[in-house]
Amino acid sequence: MKAAYTIDDLRAWESAVAAEPVRPRLGVFGDPVLHSRSPQMHNPALEQCGIDARYVRLHIGEPDFAEAIRLLAPSGFLGANVTIPHKAAALRAVDDADPVARRMGAVNTVVVEGDRLAGFSTDGPGFVRALREDFSVDLRDLRVLVLGAGGGAGRSIAVQCAIERCERLVLVNRTPEKAVELARELAPDFRGGRLEGPTARLVAVPWDEAHLRRELDQVDLVVNATSVGMRRTDPAVLPPGLLRAFHLVYDTVYAGSGPTPLLSAAAEAGARGANGLSMLLHQGALSFEIWFNRPAPLEAMRKGLMAA
Ligand code: NAP
Repeated sequence: MKAAYTIDDLRAWESAVAAEPVRPRLGVFGDPVLHSRSPQMHNPALEQCGIDARYVRLHIGEPDFAEAIRLLAPSGFLGANVTIPHKAAALRAVDDADPVARRMGAVNTVVVEGDRLAGFSTDGPGFVRALREDFSVDLRDLRVLVLGAGGGAGRSIAVQCAIERCERLVLVNRTPEKAVELARELAPDFRGGRLEGPTARLVAVPWDEAHLRRELDQVDLVVNATSVGMRRTDPAVLPPGLLRAFHLVYDTVYAGSGPTPLLSAAAEAGARGANGLSMLLHQGALSFEIWFNRPAPLEAMRKGLMAA
C-alpha cells in the first residue's frame, strides 16, 4: 500500500490498485495528508468487522479536489474522509449534505450512494462523545470557552455548542473579527430558553489577559482549538496562573508524545485535562457508523490509533 495515492493514481485507479491484496475502498483526502493516522484507525476496524476494503491516504491539492471527489464512485469507493484544506469544498461538492454539515459549513465524511455523494460532519458530534468519555459530562450542561474559535476545529466545536444549546459559550480568537462574526451567527441559538444570569450566554472577547481572566472564572470547560501546542516548543496558549482546579481542559491538539503545554498547565492547576485523541477517535467512529450503518469497533480503532 502506498503511503499516499495521488490524483494521477485516482485517474487510473484500476492499474494503481491492481497489485493490492485488499482493494482500497475508503480513504482520506488532504494536503498535507501523510501525517494522518486515519488508516491506522480504520484498517483494524475494517479487518475486525470482516469488511473487504482498505482505507488509504489520498494526497490531493486544492486545484484537483473537485475532480478527485467525483472519481470516488467510478473507482468503486464506499466513501471517504476529508481533511485540511478541503472540508468547505467538500460541502460544495456533495449532492446532499446533512443539516449538521450545512451548519458547520464543512463536510468531513462522504458516502457514495450510487452515483451521488452524501456529506456529513462528525467533528462536532465526535467532540461530544469525547467529552463523555474523558470527563463523563454532557456538552449541553457546560459553560464553554473556545480558544481559536476562528479556525475549522474551533468553529465545529462552537457550532456543536450552539446545536446542543450549552449553558454558556465564550469565543476567543487571535484575529478577533472571526470570533465576533461567529458569535453573530450563533446568537439565535442562545436566545431565550434558559434563564439569563448576570453574564451573557454568548460572547466573543478579545484575546488579552484581563478578558481571559474574567471569562475563565465563569466557564467549566476550556478548549484549545488553535494549532498552538502542536510542537512541544510552542509557547503556552494561556498566560500562566489562569486555570483553576474546577476547570475541565480539552486540548484538540494530539500530535507528539507527552502532555501539551496547556495540559501541563492544567495538571499544575489541579484541573482535569484530555488531549484531542479522543475527538479524533470518535469522529472516526462516527464516520464508520455512517458508512456501514453499524456500531464501530471502538477498541480496535483506539488500539490502532495509540499504536500509530
Ligand atoms: P485552522 O483552521 O488553520 O485554525 C487555526 C486556529 O489557530 C485559528 O483560530 C488561528 O487563529 C489559531 N492560531 C494559529 N496560530 C496561533 C497563535 N500563534 N496564537 C493564537 N492562535 C493561533 O486549523 P484547524 O483545522 O482548526 O486546527 C486547529 C487545531 O485543531 C490543530 O491543532 C489541529 O490538530 C486540531 N484538530 C484536532 C482534531 C481532533 O480530532 N482532535 C480535529 C481537527 C483539528 P487566527 O484565526 O487568528 O489565524
